[in-house]
Amino acid sequence: MVASEAVPFAKTGGLADVIGALPRALAGLGHEVDVVMPRYRGIEAGSPERVITVALGNLMSDARCYVAAGERVRTIFIDHPGYFDRDHLYGANGHDYVDNPERFAFLCQAALNWAAESSTPYDVVHAHDWQAGLVPVLHERMAESSPGLDRLATVFTIHNLAYQGVFDASWLPYLGLGWGLMRVDAMEYWGRVSYLKAGVVFSQLITTVSPRYAQEIQTPELGFGFDGILRERGSDLIGILNGIDYDQWDPERDSNIPRPYHANDLDGKEAAKRELLERYRLPASAEALARPVVGLISRMVDQKGFDLLADIADELPRLGATVVLLGSGERRYEDLWLALATRHPDRVAVHIGFDERLAHLIEAGADLFLMPSRFEPCGLNQMYSLRYGTVPLVRATGGLADTVQNFDAASGSGTGFTFDEYSPQALLGTLRWALGVFIDRRTWRRMQQAGMRQDHSWAASARRYVEVYERAMASRVGV
Ligand code: ADP
Repeated sequence: MVASEAVPFAKTGGLADVIGALPRALAGLGHEVDVVMPRYRGIEAGSPERVITVALGNLMSDARCYVAAGERVRTIFIDHPGYFDRDHLYGANGHDYVDNPERFAFLCQAALNWAAESSTPYDVVHAHDWQAGLVPVLHERMAESSPGLDRLATVFTIHNLAYQGVFDASWLPYLGLGWGLMRVDAMEYWGRVSYLKAGVVFSQLITTVSPRYAQEIQTPELGFGFDGILRERGSDLIGILNGIDYDQWDPERDSNIPRPYHANDLDGKEAAKRELLERYRLPASAEALARPVVGLISRMVDQKGFDLLADIADELPRLGATVVLLGSGERRYEDLWLALATRHPDRVAVHIGFDERLAHLIEAGADLFLMPSRFEPCGLNQMYSLRYGTVPLVRATGGLADTVQNFDAASGSGTGFTFDEYSPQALLGTLRWALGVFIDRRTWRRMQQAGMRQDHSWAASARRYVEVYERAMASRVGV
């Protein structure tokens, strides 16, 4: 696998969780997986094993490869301080690093060189998101002259179509990729080039992270200009729901929460709620504990519904609930939420920043979890919520629609609350509805338990990926 981030080494979003977990799940099925990623600043893992020379156009430089070996899963860190020894992964102060096209072309080429020089051949290279989008196109060029690579099958996964790796076309000659790729059926994208498109066009099979999202991205509304090419490749596009990593996210063995709990004994959840309120310096009286806590953990951007939330911000403190938010993102949303918390210190509390431990405490301590996303390829937090008995309230889009079953008052069935229309009224109405149901403790308990008993482990998803790999391998050898 080639990817730009992986838990526990570097993370900005859900991609890192997937790359941390899927290889281990595949290993559990008996496969061997190597993950190739940059050796960013601060990564201490691994020992230096090999130096490979990477040529991109006229650029020629060495990468020292550090290898961290686990059981059946190795991580290979591509060390190139000029590219990767920086404060952040992709950019600083709201601006992407200007040499991102070069940095990630380097990652892709280094990964393929590593594969070509390996004594045991790989069966599949699985590239993730635009940062690894050049893998299939570089592979195509190398395959003829590198005997170790000619049978390598290529699979590309879109974790979020909104990030397309679009750059000035002059990078093509600079990186030695050639103007030949400046075609509509190659990397050209409205006069520029897209690394994501390279992944989509040149890989044998494409996957994305939920069945619903696989459909949605073939439509103009959610295709972000890619719906045409994705429709063209529709028969090679497969939606596989992400799993969640139960080693990290399981209330029965989570060291970040005060007491373990499970579906039949939710006392520990109450303890987590108290600790959560205290941690946020909110009142934790019996009265406050009886009130529902609504949790949010998110990048604070429009994709996650922060525009809708902004529209209903003044209503939130008046709903009879306590709202806790953990996140960071656009300045205007950070400011809005901080101001809201200042105005309503006993009803709204905000932590701006990234805090893994606190994220666990929110998942455990909240009663309701909000995810009003405009679009959501898969989403992880709603699955963590289900596992932790925290009822998710989501917009019915992408993976949210595939994982949360709307509450049905007549039968009492369902695992959460969903709404369709992307509007503040729909969100607010659903929120009021959910908080009304919360009062019915037995119904609520049933919903919690239904969610907690669902299986969102990686094992099932990993089996689907194996099917995809086998299909790609079969077509590579022309069977
Ligand atoms: P995305 O990848 O689009 O941001 P996902 O729901 O797929 O959204 O994954 C987000 C991941 O990042 C989850 O594991 C979530 O808990 C975590 N996360 C997001 N923001 C924060 C934060 N401020 N602090 C801690 N974890 C966060």
